[in-house]
Amino acid sequence: MNPVYLSAPVSALMKGLYEEDTTIANIKKHGDFGLGTFNDLNGEMVMLDGRAYQLETDGLAHSVDDAAQMPFACVTFFHPTTVEDIEQDLDDAGFRNLLERLIPSKNMFYAIRIDGCFSYLKVWSIHKQENYRPIAEVRPTPFDFQDIEGTLVGFYTPRFIGSLSMPGHHLHFLSADRRHGGHLFQCRLKKARIAIQFVPELKLNLPMTLDYLTTDL
Ligand SMILES: [Zn+2]
Repeated sequence: MNPVYLSAPVSALMKGLYEEDTTIANIKKHGDFGLGTFNDLNGEMVMLDGRAYQLETDGLAHSVDDAAQMPFACVTFFHPTTVEDIEQDLDDAGFRNLLERLIPSKNMFYAIRIDGCFSYLKVWSIHKQENYRPIAEVRPTPFDFQDIEGTLVGFYTPRFIGSLSMPGHHLHFLSADRRHGGHLFQCRLKKARIAIQFVPELKLNLPMTLDYLTTDL
């Protein structure tokens, strides 16, 4: 069974620790599928089929090499437990309801891959920030797409594990041509294949940097 792997507790990121020495190469030992952010919050990260991409504030995506560093990543090796085909016009609320219905318990981790056609998608990403800037001051930049095909990659994390990873559903989008993407904010779905992996195990890495060791979490 592949665990969900966290490179750091997300609470460290929330405290403004935006630089760690974790690399994409480190992350790939623990998964081929997942999400995160780059050092100094310089764009969102998505990993799909073993390749990592940086998602920028102009809505563009590009692949990144193994040396890129990140303060937070959540990955697993993706092997779906269930696969569901949906052909239905669903607004954002309908889409969220569907995701809730597809998980049998809120006390489990799930890795979620949604390959779909979307009539509308609103994503966001973040410009490079100064390390330690309070997260409350960081404003993401939104970006819209119309009629786009692609993949949502992410996880459901139980609420009681919210200090370790973003609680609830957290999904990043990558277009089918691998050239666009961002952190999912809203969408309108036309059709999709929704693959869900139940993950009953968590592996948490604790960073060994001075910042991490000396911050009051
Ligand atoms: Zn995100």
